[in-house]
Amino acid sequence: MTGPAEDPSFLSLLTGCLATPIAENPTVVMVEAAYRHHGIDARYINCDVRPADLGAAVRGAWAMGWLGFNCSLPHKVAVIEHLSALGESARVIGAVNTVVRGDDGWVGENTDGRGFVEALREKGILLDGQRIALLGAGGAARAIAVESALAGAASIEVVNRDRGRGEALAALVNEQTPADAAYRPWDEPYPVPTDVDLLVNATSVGLHPDPNSPAVEAGTLREGMVVADVIPNPPRTAFLRQAEEAGCVTIDGLGMLVGQGVLAVGLWTGIRPDPAVMRRALANVFGG
Ligand code: NDP
Repeated sequence: MTGPAEDPSFLSLLTGCLATPIAENPTVVMVEAAYRHHGIDARYINCDVRPADLGAAVRGAWAMGWLGFNCSLPHKVAVIEHLSALGESARVIGAVNTVVRGDDGWVGENTDGRGFVEALREKGILLDGQRIALLGAGGAARAIAVESALAGAASIEVVNRDRGRGEALAALVNEQTPADAAYRPWDEPYPVPTDVDLLVNATSVGLHPDPNSPAVEAGTLREGMVVADVIPNPPRTAFLRQAEEAGCVTIDGLGMLVGQGVLAVGLWTGIRPDPAVMRRALANVFGG
């Protein structure tokens, strides 16, 4: 009788997400689907961490040998003081959503915007020289603006209700990237300028259970224009349905979520997971 080819290991690699609330965060489903598909003995654990416990949780993850973790609200900025270094995107955006074990401590990265750029690339859309209209100026918009600009976008019009946030985002793009940005107030339905190549909804309008679309002037969505929505739930928002009817090319919020997951698993394990496997796992949760 022969024994097993190699000694079994009962020690899984550990990754996860620190946030609160977190019970409804579905990233675990797509990341664990990738681990299973690629035969990696790793786990991704959602941890409900209160702000006062963030430092202890980050030190605990280090002590337990975690490969890294995602950070979601409300920890994306607060986590920075517990890290030893920041990648370029995280530094410019000023927020961290992915933390990776380095030789001398945790390194903070931001894959929110790169996930978006990745989702466009998957559909054959490159940002070089593109003119973007961006609805919103919150965390998601900030990441998308910075990363699209770093990926070669020519100009970004930031359309936001709150003037302070909108102007701050336009200034960040102008100061930290090669793209030109300008703020545009949003107190009436937005007429999309005729030279816009890519229109992005980066507001929270349309997130379940909100059935609405962001206020865009009817008739200014053009055939062939690319329209992207960050809302992952539902994947097919009223805004994207409206864009499809106008003949636009549409990109849903699942693409951005998957793009981030692909980058995070790559940073932690060194493999490039199959995005189709991850998207299927998410679509099973959201339907899409
Ligand atoms: P923030 O709270 O930081 O920003 C919200 C933005 O939405 C602000 O610009 C706000 O405008 C705007 N907004 C909210 N309600 C309205 C409204 N009725 N009309 C016009 N503008 C409105 O949120 P985040 O940026 O973190 O998240 C935004 C959305 O992006 C969320 O729904 C989230 O689910 C999604 N997201 C998706 C990701 C993905 O991978 N698919 C990743 C990250 C986020 P104002 O400043 O004027 O208040």
